[in-house]
Amino acid sequence: MNVNDSEKAAGLLEGEGMERVESAAGADVIFVNTCAVRERAAEKLFHAVGRYRTLKAQNPGLKIAVGGCVAQLQGKEIMERAPTVDVLVGTHNLRDLPRLLAESTESGLSQSALDREADAFSIPADTVSHSSRTRAYVTVVEGCNHVCSFCVVPRTRGKEVCRSPESILQEVRSLLDRGYNEIMLLGQTVNAYRFGDVDFPDLLRRVHDLDERLWRLRFTTSHPEHVDEKFARCFAELPRLAPYLHLPVQSGADAILADMRRGYTAREYLQRLGLLRAYRGDLALTADVIVGYPGETEEDFEATCRLVREASYDGLFVFLYSPRPGTTAIRRPDDIPEAEKKRRFKVLNEQQQRQQRLRHQSYIGRVEEVLVEEVKDGDCKGRTPHFRLVHFDAPTSFDVAPGTRLDVKITTAFPNSLRGRVEGGANARDPRR
Ligand code: SAM
Repeated sequence: MNVNDSEKAAGLLEGEGMERVESAAGADVIFVNTCAVRERAAEKLFHAVGRYRTLKAQNPGLKIAVGGCVAQLQGKEIMERAPTVDVLVGTHNLRDLPRLLAESTESGLSQSALDREADAFSIPADTVSHSSRTRAYVTVVEGCNHVCSFCVVPRTRGKEVCRSPESILQEVRSLLDRGYNEIMLLGQTVNAYRFGDVDFPDLLRRVHDLDERLWRLRFTTSHPEHVDEKFARCFAELPRLAPYLHLPVQSGADAILADMRRGYTAREYLQRLGLLRAYRGDLALTADVIVGYPGETEEDFEATCRLVREASYDGLFVFLYSPRPGTTAIRRPDDIPEAEKKRRFKVLNEQQQRQQRLRHQSYIGRVEEVLVEEVKDGDCKGRTPHFRLVHFDAPTSFDVAPGTRLDVKITTAFPNSLRGRVEGGANARDPRR
C-alpha cells in the first residue's frame, strides 16, 4: 500500500513537470513516505530527514515533504522535531502535495493537510506513476474497521471506505490497455470489500472476467474473519486468480488472539486454511506473526510455533511487538524483555526457514511459469503464479524483458528463492513482448 501511495505521489509530481532522480543528492523535492506500524519504522523518518539536512544546506531551494501514516499520526510535532520538513500530507490528502509544495515555495513557510475525512480516492487513476512494468496496484479499500489491540492503522487511515466497482474496473481496463498483465488489488483488509450488493468475491469475479490480457490477479491483505466458502471457491473457479494468499494469523495462542481482538481461535484459523486448501490444494499461503505481545507466555509462544508448523506456510513475516500510541494494547505493560522477544523471533524464523528449505527442495526439477520482473546484467528474476521468486540466466537465443512470461526449470532451492534455467529455447513458450 505504501508503494502504491509513493507511485501516486510520484505521478502527481510528474504531472507538475518534475522528473525522478536516482538519488536524494540531486533532488529539488524529496518526498518521504512513512509507515507507523512499528516504532522503529516510524523513527526511520527522523533518521532520513536528519540525513537530508546537509542537502538542504547545499541547496536552500530543496523542499522536503512527508506523507503516510507517521505524518497523519504525529502531525505538526514532526516539524517541531525536524524543522527542515516543509510539507506534511496526511493519508487522505496526498492529492494536495503539489499545491502545498508550491505554497511553501512561494511563502517560505511550512504547509500541511491532515484531514482524514478527505476523499482518499480523489487522485485520478491515470496519475499513478507505476514502479513496475508488469504489476500494477489498484487500491479498492482504504482504512480498516477492525479493532486489533496492537494496530495503529485504524487511527492513521480511518474507517473503511470502498471504491465503486465501476471505477475499479475502469482503472483495471486502462492498465491492461497500457500493457500491465498482473493486477494486485489492495486494501488494509481487502477481503472486507463491500459496495452495495457487491462483496469481495463478486469484485474478484468481475475483475477476473474483464479481459484475457489479465494473466494474474492478486490481492492483499486479507483478514481471516472474511474467509468463507464463497471466498474460497474463487481460488477453484477463477483460473487467472493467482494461487497465493497472505493471511496474517498474529498468534497461535487463543488467549493472545482474544486479547488482540482478532475474532478467531487458532483452531478456527486452521479450519479456514483447510477450507481454502479444499478448494485449491496447491494454494501458497503466507502470514504475519507478532512475538512478545504483552503477557505472551512460553506456552503461548510454543502454541504459535505449533500453529506455524501445522499451517505449513510458504513464507512468514515475524514482527517483534511494538507498543503504538492510541492502541488498546498500549495500556498493557510491554512486559516481554527485548532480548526474549528477539529470541522468540529467531526461534520462529529458524523453524520456518527449515520448513521452507524442505518445501523448496521439492520443486527441483519442476517447470514453473515465470513472469519476468527484472533483467540486469544477464540475470533475470520473476515470480511464479504462487509468488515464488525465481532467478535465472537470460537465454541467449531470444530477448527477455520485464513482462515476458516463460517456462523455467527449477535447478536449485534456497529458503527464500529458487534458481532455474529457461526450458527448451525460444519455442518453450511464447515469450510475449
Ligand atoms: N492491515 C495490514 C495487514 O493486515 O497486513 C496491516 C499492515 S501491517 C504493516 C502488517 C503486520 O504488521 C501486521 O499483520 C502485524 O503482524 C504487524 N504489526 C502491526 N502492528 C504491530 C505492532 N504494534 N507491533 C508489531 N507488529 C505489528
